[in-house]
Amino acid sequence: MRPFVYARAETVETAVRAADAGGSGPPTRAATQYLAGGTTILDLMKLDTMRPEALVDINDLADRHGAIEVGAQGLRLGALARMSEAADHPAVRRDFPVIAQSLQLAASAQIRNMATLGGNVLQRTRCNYFRDPSWAACNKRNPGSGCAALDGVNRKHAVLGVSDHCIATYPGDFAQALVALDAVVEIAGRSGPRTLPFASLHRQPGGTPDVETVLQPGDLITGFAVPAGAWTRRSLYLKIRDRQSYEFALASAAVALEIRDGVVAEARIALGGVATTPWRAREAEEALKGRPCDEATCSAAARTAFAGAETRPGNAFKPELGRRTLIRALLQAATMEV
Ligand code: FAD
Ligand code: SF4
Repeated sequence: MRPFVYARAETVETAVRAADAGGSGPPTRAATQYLAGGTTILDLMKLDTMRPEALVDINDLADRHGAIEVGAQGLRLGALARMSEAADHPAVRRDFPVIAQSLQLAASAQIRNMATLGGNVLQRTRCNYFRDPSWAACNKRNPGSGCAALDGVNRKHAVLGVSDHCIATYPGDFAQALVALDAVVEIAGRSGPRTLPFASLHRQPGGTPDVETVLQPGDLITGFAVPAGAWTRRSLYLKIRDRQSYEFALASAAVALEIRDGVVAEARIALGGVATTPWRAREAEEALKGRPCDEATCSAAARTAFAGAETRPGNAFKPELGRRTLIRALLQAATMEV
């Protein structure tokens, strides 16, 4: 691990100023990084994949930006709230089960106690070529160097939103729940506070896989707002992985349904483990509307969701796994007691 400067920020303004001074490129390449739970950034520094010169500890901001509030309008999650706090919150579990489950099914109890919601959505891919700097070819880590995964080990890689420059999967779970429920992300930046639909935070790799979000230098995520909807209670997160705990998704589905008079009035679907970003499946949502949520309708919707999948020999199984995961999630949601 390389030497670095450590500082604590007591206000949002001092944090943003300190991080803004750390460079002009995308935040992933900035010389100054925020330190929240540290469960990702310290890993990547030890691996020598990320080499920040300074860490700005933002844990003192938790007093103002670590709260979880549920009201008639919806849910507000402070970015400094720990994953376990949101996963275990009784009102979140009751009114927004897809949020609670996406966090409960992530990582391990120890990591969830430490890791924050803001850090969670900015975690970086688990592509082994990215995490191991002894591999020369990785456009995400070293722009212009190529992509070792295209013809390498790519069983866990993405089939949606890929490019010839990168096929890395977005690894998190919570982001799918936020995308499905039309959450808004709150950001403090050099020009003050602003909000953004959460679905537009992450970028597909295109020709610049190192630019992972639309965040600007110094931008600090302060929270997430999730609007209440008739579908939020009938929602769930289904995650398929190689083992039942402490493992990233091979395929996952965040779904929320409003069912009226036996047919789907509203559907919200986001897919994980299969795409380069948290992936909203709007065509599949449309395919469900006005129909009973039965096996035939769900199968047709799931086919739509993966119509544009691009596979490699190592991950050719993923569209089928993704389809089955989505069908199961929808059928389970349709029969939930709400
Ligand atoms: P940090 O490591 O402190 O920060 C991560 C990055 O985000 C840094 O670059 C930092 O600059 C930036 N950052 C942090 N907070 C902010 C903010 N508020 N605004 C702007 N930038 C910020 N996750 C899953 O979803 N599912 C899993 O199954 C899963 N399994 C895991 C298994 C293991 C073994 C490990 C180590 C991790 C796993 N994770 C999983 C990832 C884990 O959830 C993340 O490491 C964690 O959520 C990151 O949060 P943090 O607060 O520790 O972030
Ligand atoms: Fe790097 Fe992306 Fe290729 Fe993985 S898939 S080696 S992260 S460029």
